[in-house]
Amino acid sequence: MSSSFSRRNFIAGTAAIAGVAAAGRANAQVGPAHGKVVDTQVFARLEEIGEGVWGVVSTPLNPDGSFNPAAVATLCNGGIIAGEEKVVAIDGSFQPAGAAWLAEQALKLTGRPVTDVIVTHFHADHSGGLAGYQNGATGPEIIATETTNNLIFERYAGARQTPEGAQFARPVIRPVMPTRIITDETSIPTMDLGGRTIRLHPLKGHTPSDMAIVVDDANVIFAGDLVWQGLFHNYVDAIPSHLTTSVEHLLADTSRTIVTGHGAIANAGDLGNYLELLRLVEEKARASFEAGKTPAEGAKEFTVPASLGNWLLFNPRYYETAFEAWRRELAGETS
Ligand SMILES: [Zn+2]
Repeated sequence: MSSSFSRRNFIAGTAAIAGVAAAGRANAQVGPAHGKVVDTQVFARLEEIGEGVWGVVSTPLNPDGSFNPAAVATLCNGGIIAGEEKVVAIDGSFQPAGAAWLAEQALKLTGRPVTDVIVTHFHADHSGGLAGYQNGATGPEIIATETTNNLIFERYAGARQTPEGAQFARPVIRPVMPTRIITDETSIPTMDLGGRTIRLHPLKGHTPSDMAIVVDDANVIFAGDLVWQGLFHNYVDAIPSHLTTSVEHLLADTSRTIVTGHGAIANAGDLGNYLELLRLVEEKARASFEAGKTPAEGAKEFTVPASLGNWLLFNPRYYETAFEAWRRELAGETS
């Protein structure tokens, strides 16, 4: 890790050098809450966004736009959906302390422990903290698709990488692993929580398997890392054409409340710039590929127009990562 990298893990998405520090400061913290804030920690806040539905918004940034290593317990967003019988938590956090906090909140808010955890995708910042839901020998059912389950094993069996938080202590992925595997990734299973049914929608694009959770009676979608707000998407494992299709699907009903994977919770209708940004990346990456440029060369010429707002980078190489994902797809290296 170069010193410049570790000194500043987030840089502003705008290219103007003079504006980087100021833009970073102005956008270091996620925007105002969408719902009623019921708990605030240094690493996250929990918002009530419907009856029996709460969304986590992680806040890992210092005011200067850098990561705060003491504020990465959750690192990803997620939440709680309560029925009369089941209490579902969305995603596993980066560290067990994050999942333990969410489990404690669920107990406080519903009077019952978490019964099921749905893992949206394999990335360590969404699966590394699963052990935090465990209470001695007992714990909730951990639900994931077969692809997600396999990828957790494949990617984190040896040298563990943490796509959205590589500079922090590596999370211990095991021993808590998915216990209920969804093998048919083309159907949309439903879960009856008691008085409320949710839909588990298998999609892909951020990774080869991304689960969105739809709570129809509260008009809420937990989008996992398919949708980001104010932070430039991490394309490290992306299948970019599928990413766009999945996002179009998730944002189609503009009245929905979307719990993003990173950044603020927002109405689908207010997330249009995110989709525009994905389309702009596609346009520029295709042109770059057709001109025979490398992803690094293409990324160097890429800027986000001010009209799309500010998009911070978790990592200064993320434009290149995006162009590389498109190169892989255009070269026929991804299915
Ligand atoms: Zn991810």
